[in-house]
Amino acid sequence: TSPFIEVSQLRCHFKSGENYLAAVDGVNLQIGAGEVLGLVGESGSGKSTLGRIIVGLQARSAGTVCIDGKDMPQHYSRRQFREMSTKVQMVFQDSYASLNPRMTILASLQEPLWSLGVRGKAALDKAMYWLDRVGLPRSAGERYPHELSGGQRQRIGIARAFIAEPQLVICDEPVSALDVSVQAQIINLLQELQREHNTAMLFIAHDLAVVRFLASRTAVMYLGEIVEIGPTAAVFESPRHPYTVKLLAAHLDGNPRERVLGSLADVKAVANKAPLASDSGCRFAPRCQLAIAACCEGPPRLLPSLVDTEVACHRLALIEEGSSQIELLSEKE
Ligand code: SF4
Ligand code: MG
Repeated sequence: TSPFIEVSQLRCHFKSGENYLAAVDGVNLQIGAGEVLGLVGESGSGKSTLGRIIVGLQARSAGTVCIDGKDMPQHYSRRQFREMSTKVQMVFQDSYASLNPRMTILASLQEPLWSLGVRGKAALDKAMYWLDRVGLPRSAGERYPHELSGGQRQRIGIARAFIAEPQLVICDEPVSALDVSVQAQIINLLQELQREHNTAMLFIAHDLAVVRFLASRTAVMYLGEIVEIGPTAAVFESPRHPYTVKLLAAHLDGNPRERVLGSLADVKAVANKAPLASDSGCRFAPRCQLAIAACCEGPPRLLPSLVDTEVACHRLALIEEGSSQIELLSEKE
């Protein structure tokens, strides 16, 4: 069976001054029905842009997006956007982002159903069910978004995302704006709902522990490119890409990732320096302790590693290729 989502050679460029900044630069990705794919990387790596392109909130510059066997156009029409919203929904980091401040919670919950033609008592009953399902009292339905806590608002954002029973929910840092004390509850709720409805999920986070907990596969993004992807256990236990190694080490240190790996300003500076032409070398080279001359000669492509993952690293490819060549030589002798 074909994957629910298939993204090929996806690019999205923004103009920033004289330069083009490649937010997403040649990403290939598949998510199967009911599968949870974690997407990690620093801020500015293009994770959110990738999610927004898939859900249709952001136009791509190039590449294809195929959802449920259907090729999606670069810009979605209103009709396509509506049709899409029954299949793919998004939970935002900012819980205000998906809620109209002038609508009651109950109205906000029913809104996705209205566009499906579900109205009146049927819509109201469903909204009541979901209010309860995400752990809010009935009285919350009469309130407005600003009258709820951040955690309660995010519960409503989640209910809104699931209410029309989409096949994929994209979660973009859904708990990073919340108090640490409620983060685990929200993550558990997301996992329960995902399992209950067998919803596919693209889970974008910089919190590696959360991704390790939720995702069966994990992709690591660096400056618009996926540098490593594979089963979560393999990525976390046998990271192969030097950036993944660094990201995991920073996480284990308990240090905020940003500080260990350099500020966002540094990342942007490197991004601006990196030409768009695909004949430039590895983008991680300026920060890579393992860089060799070959790293600057061309972009590394994702290749299967020896541990069931795919990794884009010249040096790793040489090492793994080298070991198999040595085996071949010894066989000949
Ligand atoms: Fe480092 Fe070279 Fe691998 Fe890039 S290709 S991650 S610079 S070793
Ligand atoms: Mg983001």
